[in-house]
Amino acid sequence: MADVVVAMSASLPRTCVGCGRPARWTRRVRVLGPSSGYAPMVGEFAIDNLERMARGPGAIRLPVCGWHRWVVPPAIAAEAAGGRVRLSGVSAEFAAALGH
Ligand SMILES: [Zn+2]
Repeated sequence: MADVVVAMSASLPRTCVGCGRPARWTRRVRVLGPSSGYAPMVGEFAIDNLERMARGPGAIRLPVCGWHRWVVPPAIAAEAAGGRVRLSGVSAEFAAALGH
C-alpha cells in the first residue's frame, strides 16, 4: 500500500488502485477536505479556500478491477490538498504507474 498525490483532473493509469490488476471500471471515492492545520489559514485566502472546500472537490473516479468494483470496495482514503488529491492506501502497482 502506498500514498500518492494526483491532480483533481489528472488522467489516471488503468491500473486498479486496490490490487494493481488491469482496471476495466472506475469507482467514485468521496474526497474529504484537508485535515485541520494542513492548509494555510490566513486572511482572505483562507476564506476563499474554505468556500472552495465547502463547494468541495466532491469525488474522484479511481480505476478499479472487476473485483474491487463489484465485490470488495478498495479501502482508499482521498483527501483534498490544494487542488490536488492525496490518495492513501493505493496499490504499489498504481503508485508505480503514476511514476511514484
Ligand atoms: Zn483490484
